[in-house]
Amino acid sequence: GRNTVCFFDPEMQAVVTANATLAADLRQAWRENQFHIDYQPQVGPDGRMTGVEALVRWHHPLRGVVPPDQFIPAAEETSLILPIGRWVLDTACAQLAAWEHRPDRRHLSIAVNVSVKQFRHPEFVDEVMQAIEQSGVQPHKLKLELTESLLADGIDVTIAKMGSLKDMGVTLSLDDFGIGYSSLSYLKRLPLDQLKIDREFVKDILTDSNDAAIAKTVIGLAHSLDLDVIAEGVETEEQRAFLERQGCHSYQGYLFCRPLPIEELEAFMDRLPAM
Ligand code: C2E
Ligand code: CA
Ligand code: CA
Ligand code: CA
Repeated sequence: GRNTVCFFDPEMQAVVTANATLAADLRQAWRENQFHIDYQPQVGPDGRMTGVEALVRWHHPLRGVVPPDQFIPAAEETSLILPIGRWVLDTACAQLAAWEHRPDRRHLSIAVNVSVKQFRHPEFVDEVMQAIEQSGVQPHKLKLELTESLLADGIDVTIAKMGSLKDMGVTLSLDDFGIGYSSLSYLKRLPLDQLKIDREFVKDILTDSNDAAIAKTVIGLAHSLDLDVIAEGVETEEQRAFLERQGCHSYQGYLFCRPLPIEELEAFMDRLPAM
C-alpha cells in the first residue's frame, strides 16, 4: 500500500530458500542413508587409546561432505535429529558389542553426542536402555556427551533424567563446558563423570591468557568435584604438554588422530603398539 514500505532482501530470500532446501535434502538424506559415522580416538594418561567419539557425517551426492555444524541445527529444527540421534546411539552400541569380542578392543568406550531436543524427548531414557539391552554391552562403555544448554530446561528435570541414565550405568560427560550458561553452582548437583574442555579454549591456549585461565579453571573444577577431564581439539605437543602441566591427562585431537571412518579406525588401531 501507499504507506507501507516493503523490503525485499534478495540475500535474505536466498537464506530462506537455502534453509528450506537443506531441510528437504536432510529428509531425503535420511531416507537414502547418506549419513555415516566417523570415530575420533581419545587418549588417556599413559598415551593409550581409551575410546572414541562418534561424529556424524553427511555425504551429499552433490554438496559433498556437509559438516555437522551446518546440518545439526536444521536437523534439530525439523526433528530429524531424533531418528538420526537414535541411529548414532544404536550404531555406537553395536560397535561396542563388536569390540567386546576383541581382547585388544574391549576396553574402549564410545562417546555419543546428545542434542538438546533428543535429551528432552520423553522416550530418550528408554531408547538408551534399549540400545544397551539389544547390544548387550556394558553400560559404562557408552558415554553420553551432554551440553550445558540442557540446563535451560530447569535443573531439577535435567538432574532427574541424568540420574536415570546414571542408574543404568551409562557414563556422562559435559561437552563444551564453559561456553554456555554460568552454571557453576549447578555443576556440583549434576550426576556427571567427566568435563570436556572445548576446542575453543584449547586452540589458543598457549597465546591467549584468558583461554589458558579458563582451561585451568575447568581442570581445577573437575579435580575438586572428583570428575574426569578431557581436552578436545589438541593439535600440538605443546598444547598437550601445557594441559598436562595443568592436570589434564586425557586428550582428543588431530595430534593423535583425525576422525576416521570405521575401517580406517580399525586399521589405525591395528598399527598401534601392542598393549
Ligand atoms: P563437538 O562435539 O564439540 O565435536 C568436536 C569437533 O571438533 C568435531 O567437529 C571434531 O571433528 C573436531 N575436532 C576434533 N579434534 C580437532 C582438532 O584437533 N582440531 C580441530 N580444528 N578440530 C577438531 P565435527 O565433527 O565437525 O562436529 C561438529 C559438531 O557437530 C560437534 O561438536 C557436535 O556438537 C556436533 N555433532 C557431531 N556429531 C553429532 C551427533 O551424532 N549428534 C549430535 N547431536 N551432534 C553431533
Ligand atoms: Ca562432542
Ligand atoms: Ca566441543
Ligand atoms: Ca562444539
